[in-house]
Amino acid sequence: MLAGKWRAAMRFAALLIGGVALAWAAVAQAQSGGPDPYPVIQGKTYKFEKIADGVYYATGGFGSNNVVIVNDQDVVVVDTGTTPAAARAFIADIKMLTNKPIRFVVNTHWHFDHTDGNSAFGPGVQIIAQDYVRTAITTFDVLHREPFLTSQGNAVPAQIDDLGRQIAAERDPNRKAALQQQLLAAQQVLVQLKDIRPTPPNVTYSDKLVLHRGNREIDLLFLGRGHTGGDTVVWLPNERIVCSGDLMESRIAYMGDGYFDEWVTTLDKLKNIDFAVDLPGHGVPFSDKTIISEFQAYLTDLVAQVSKLKAAGVPAEEAAQRVDLTAHAKYFPQIQGPGADLRGVKRVYAWLDERDHK
Ligand SMILES: [Zn+2]
Repeated sequence: MLAGKWRAAMRFAALLIGGVALAWAAVAQAQSGGPDPYPVIQGKTYKFEKIADGVYYATGGFGSNNVVIVNDQDVVVVDTGTTPAAARAFIADIKMLTNKPIRFVVNTHWHFDHTDGNSAFGPGVQIIAQDYVRTAITTFDVLHREPFLTSQGNAVPAQIDDLGRQIAAERDPNRKAALQQQLLAAQQVLVQLKDIRPTPPNVTYSDKLVLHRGNREIDLLFLGRGHTGGDTVVWLPNERIVCSGDLMESRIAYMGDGYFDEWVTTLDKLKNIDFAVDLPGHGVPFSDKTIISEFQAYLTDLVAQVSKLKAAGVPAEEAAQRVDLTAHAKYFPQIQGPGADLRGVKRVYAWLDERDHK
């Protein structure tokens, strides 16, 4: 049966992708001095790693990695993924962990992969973030600007057009069938994206907000600007677990909304927290603060190189190809060669102008 073969091929593809992810996780853990593997509870969509009693790191969804904190009476989740459908899958899988109600959502920052699942949570749920997140979601027209456009909004329709052309030109029936499966998956993503209703936090804070939920203390900390203008770090002082969002991933973060010098000093404050493990917005858990210092070095190097090229009159597009950050590939294996993400380099240009004209 062809359908059976397709399914087998899809399973094989999923295994391959899973294998790559596992290998990547092992590399990242080895390099970051990461903790031992955690017990795993596999949901239908999300994988939950049990980090401490009632604290789970959720991966495998569409968008950010999330955190689930089960308290005496209720549940707090950190970040909601890229679409309402992703968040509904997340909520369904959380029922495997607990039947307590989700009462609080924390958004670590405003980017789509952390907030566009917000609308899937009911009106009784408090969605909490730093003040800037509400400003961003209510004033930026987030679905018509970066990072949504090149990551999803324009990317998925372009991928669908491209797959259509490939299918029309393909003569091999097996390859054509595989392309048709990819097309179907991309079309399903497009349907999910059309369902997004950007939903801002309904509770905001400026510097610090503490949730006391039974015996659990959950600190929401704004340590300063960095990855965006309003990143929250979630700190569980009793468990010594920190959730750093994309302010600090275990890989190179998106740079398109960065405040670069402040980012480096804000990361110093993250290092001052006496955490046993950091659960980042992307990548894998890590314990060794060396990776934070290495990321600070990357940021400093990127800005130094881009500043020189800008001063020499080089356009941002060319600068993005000319910068060479391969010296940092030991800690960040996603750096495969010279060059950097154009969106980040353009942001460095704009940020240098802002800084110099202050
Ligand atoms: Zn993210």
